[in-house]
Amino acid sequence: MDDLSDLYQDIILSHNKRPRNQGELENATGSAEGYNPLCGDHIHVYVHQDDSGKVDDISFTGKACAICTASTSIMTEAVKGKSREEIDTKAAEALEMLTSKEEPTFDLLEQGDFAALAGVRQFPARIKCATLGWHTLESALKGGEMVNTEKEEG
Ligand code: ZN
Repeated sequence: MDDLSDLYQDIILSHNKRPRNQGELENATGSAEGYNPLCGDHIHVYVHQDDSGKVDDISFTGKACAICTASTSIMTEAVKGKSREEIDTKAAEALEMLTSKEEPTFDLLEQGDFAALAGVRQFPARIKCATLGWHTLESALKGGEMVNTEKEEG
């Protein structure tokens, strides 16, 4: 398990150092703001959906800790080019991986960087940092209401 933890950590650090899809999206069709007062993470997620609803572009900005930045960066890579249905599935998997007390039921090693989210489960105090990007994405797709982790369950 130690090797896996190192692998997760390397992936998180790499995404924190060079976040993917960073910046404002000028032609965004939706956006939302996410705030995690516990840590001070404060991000914006921008999406562009084509006529079919597919998210063909996505980006984010903000000031956030390493886990939040990395998780949001991984999120943008995981959902870019995906249909709404695929994104809902991916988001459910991510939230399951981050919050479930059970071992994940899908193959972590086949999931690439996405699997690094599982490593965050070792740090229960940081789970809201890691889920913030995913909740903010959901909001951006549903009308853009501000996400505040203090107003959510668990
Ligand atoms: Zn944080």
